[in-house]
Amino acid sequence: MQGGNGKVNPFEIAKQQVDIVKEYLDVGEGVIEKLKHTKRDLIVHFPVKMDDGSIMMCTGYRIVHNDVRGPAKGGIRYHPDVDLNEVRALSMWMTWKAAVVNIPFGGAKGGVQCNPKEMSRTEIENLTRRFTWEIAPLIGPESDIPAPDVYTNPQVMAWIMDTYSILKGYSVPGVVTGKPLEMGGSVGRLEATGKGVFITAREAAKYRDLPMEGARVVIQGAGNVGGVAAQFFDKAGAKVIAISDSKGGIYNPKGLNLDSALACKRHYSCFLTDKLEAEEITNEELLELKCDILVPAALEGQITSKNAPNLKCKIVVEGANGPTTPEADNIIFERGIFLVPDILANAGGVTVSYFEWVQNLQELLWSEEEVASRLENILTRSFREVVEIAEKKKVNMRTAAYILGVGRVAKTQELRGIYP
Ligand code: NAD
Repeated sequence: MQGGNGKVNPFEIAKQQVDIVKEYLDVGEGVIEKLKHTKRDLIVHFPVKMDDGSIMMCTGYRIVHNDVRGPAKGGIRYHPDVDLNEVRALSMWMTWKAAVVNIPFGGAKGGVQCNPKEMSRTEIENLTRRFTWEIAPLIGPESDIPAPDVYTNPQVMAWIMDTYSILKGYSVPGVVTGKPLEMGGSVGRLEATGKGVFITAREAAKYRDLPMEGARVVIQGAGNVGGVAAQFFDKAGAKVIAISDSKGGIYNPKGLNLDSALACKRHYSCFLTDKLEAEEITNEELLELKCDILVPAALEGQITSKNAPNLKCKIVVEGANGPTTPEADNIIFERGIFLVPDILANAGGVTVSYFEWVQNLQELLWSEEEVASRLENILTRSFREVVEIAEKKKVNMRTAAYILGVGRVAKTQELRGIYP
């Protein structure tokens, strides 16, 4: 399970998760084997012009795991730790996620190994445009549609859309989602993943008879997913008692002043305890805090067999992709902690990305209410479907979500058959 650098190999975990559910699926072994492979791994090495006139060589990936149910869909990540196995795992999780919420997309993911925190805006633009040019032959509104992920944002999507459109000779808004509103983005997309995390947490709390009012919430990661989810919890009367970023976290058992905390992060790019009524904690300590709802919303491999026995929460809602290892899953289940798996908990993003793509293709603009009510319906329905499977088959929520998601993809694969 561990790579040479001691890092958990997420692709091995992703494949293991499929093996766990195969006994529940009524499809042949060959179909399952196919689903454990990616369809296409594109690796590109490309030069980026830096501000000082030098050239930086970068490695980027665009992986399609599966597209039997529709065009492949998945974000693009800029991070120093991006590698082939991480992107493969993330692409596979996208396939199951789209299937769990039953939208007609397959799974893809992309990434560039780089540190955007040490790059200027111009350098990030140069990198984005050149990377888009490299992957342009394979992406497109009918084939493979990128979106934002860790350390990418609507501006990066705007550069991808512009570069792709220049290559085509006409505007192609449907090539990416998560665009700025001014150029074909959808209302509600920016907050969709964090909002979806809140909606599924709310459903989990109802299911476990835990009142949201006053519930103590701990969040790892304060970006598009963690930061936005925190605001929804706060608005609903829950108490966010701890939140973190890559440098560490802040904690106040009485509840943080969230507006000040997020304003501090926006202003200084970190949480400053002397400006906030909070004590400093590490990301490791944060995960083990006593709370009602724990939301890992940063990177994969955070909850392992080492720290799972020490969790002191009642519910885990996975904002991040792949934050929990299969060994930790078993420990969490045995300890009676209710876990909402990533492929359900953070599916709000791909759902509203789907709405954005539909609007782009039909040249429509939906209202905020239309987007919000469709998202609410899809996520609450999917939550119910997963809970029903978990109860019927007496399995944990991840296995139930996989039975639903992998099952739908496997059935489609079987109906389409293997060509020739
Ligand atoms: P982001 O770049 O907006 O934010 C990432 C956050 O994580 C930042 O606050 C960063 O400081 C923090 N972080 C980075 N390394 C960390 C570490 N080692 N420990 C603690 N915190 C760390 O990214 P995001 O879009 O919020 O993505 C977060 C997670 O959610 C990822 O796993 C991503 O794949 C997943 N996700 C994102 C979306 C989306 O729509 N953006 C959709 C589904 C899933």
